[in-house]
Amino acid sequence: MSYVTGLSCIHCGKHYTVDEVDYYCPDCGYEDGILDVEYDYDAVAKELNPAVLRQSRAFSMWRYLPLLPVEDPTKIQHLQVGWTPVYDAVRLAAELGVARLFVKDEGRNPTASFKDRASAMGVVKALEKGADSITCASTGNAASSLAGFAAAAGLPATIFVPERAPQGKVAQLLVFGARVFAVKGTYDQVWELCMEAAAEFGWYNRNCAINPYLIEGKKTVSIELIDQLIQQYNGEMPDWVVVSVGDGCTVGGVWKGLVEMNKLGFLPRLPKVLGVQAAGCQPFLTAWKNNAPLQPTDADTLADSIAVGHPRNFRKGMKAIVDSGGAFISVTDEEILDSIRTLARKAAVFGEPAGVAGVAGVRNAVKQGVIAANETVALLITGNGLKDIQSAIKAAGAPTYIEPELAAVKVALAGGSK
Ligand SMILES: *Cc1c(COP(=O)(O)O)cnc(C)c1O
Repeated sequence: MSYVTGLSCIHCGKHYTVDEVDYYCPDCGYEDGILDVEYDYDAVAKELNPAVLRQSRAFSMWRYLPLLPVEDPTKIQHLQVGWTPVYDAVRLAAELGVARLFVKDEGRNPTASFKDRASAMGVVKALEKGADSITCASTGNAASSLAGFAAAAGLPATIFVPERAPQGKVAQLLVFGARVFAVKGTYDQVWELCMEAAAEFGWYNRNCAINPYLIEGKKTVSIELIDQLIQQYNGEMPDWVVVSVGDGCTVGGVWKGLVEMNKLGFLPRLPKVLGVQAAGCQPFLTAWKNNAPLQPTDADTLADSIAVGHPRNFRKGMKAIVDSGGAFISVTDEEILDSIRTLARKAAVFGEPAGVAGVAGVRNAVKQGVIAANETVALLITGNGLKDIQSAIKAAGAPTYIEPELAAVKVALAGGSK
């Protein structure tokens, strides 16, 4: 039994019981009618408070079980998700020009991205609802993580990805035994196709934008961040939390987790959220700057995980930035490649393009006076660099090829090679 009291539509405000509806508000449809999971926070607070967390030996996202929509904990799979490290990145902070910088490496999850928090939750809900197969559309990471968790549960998965998804992610899908459709089209088309297929074949739909439970998994990243800052860093709290934005589910989850930690008394003051978009695909930034409705755009960036021209969780994503008093910022592909190098060389964390975009995001935000030099920043690195080797090599350059002789080393060193 969970402390969930129901679901509410973030557009029309209508309330539903959990048995009434599975995905989105039937009145508003899936473009607008995204649902939010609601809890009895007084009851949650009895089980989730500073005294309890200090004693807890559960080091995974399930540490926060009272704040999750799990009805049957026996459906939780064995993979270790969460309790990813938070580093005090002193040299990177100096490089970017902020007082203190915490780096949370979400690439340390079982399938090497932040998406595992959502997939872990999605598979529990699928099993609770008696689903016999599950599907999602994804730029790559939601797919590879769903494939992993479906394998853990022995649940057949059908996955739709754009043909251009990086090979590392496609390899993961195939290794975990998912049925993989590499679609000749954009992520936006992939998403529509998956929605149609899910309806047609009755597969459980893990798409984060329309399945209200997935964001509940995602919010554990910021709940955990605050918990770790309390346990490991004397309760130093960030002024900013920085994360890259595609569909908007991640940033929406990050904000929900922060608000809940504030409500439960862990977090005295809410930080601002910086949403980072690629310059070649910045529909959130454009809408935010112009205070205008969403205009879907092209998706021209090497950061495949945020190459989302038509964000499917626009309302929750926008709300996170506006309610927090934060900002959107954009970074060019050049700056993203530079971020891969800078993060690896100043903090020794290797991230994929979308995963590291926040590094350039912080740099630009400091330059523009959005983040002040005396502020503390927490940066979420959302995916591991080995997922997209092609971009990593583009960022890092080539080795020096030599013959297997010391003389060749001497020649190379004299030539000033690295
Ligand atoms: C999915 C993803 C994001 C963005 O999440 P959205 O919910 O699409 O906004 C950022 N970084 C990585 C590595 C991702 O896989």
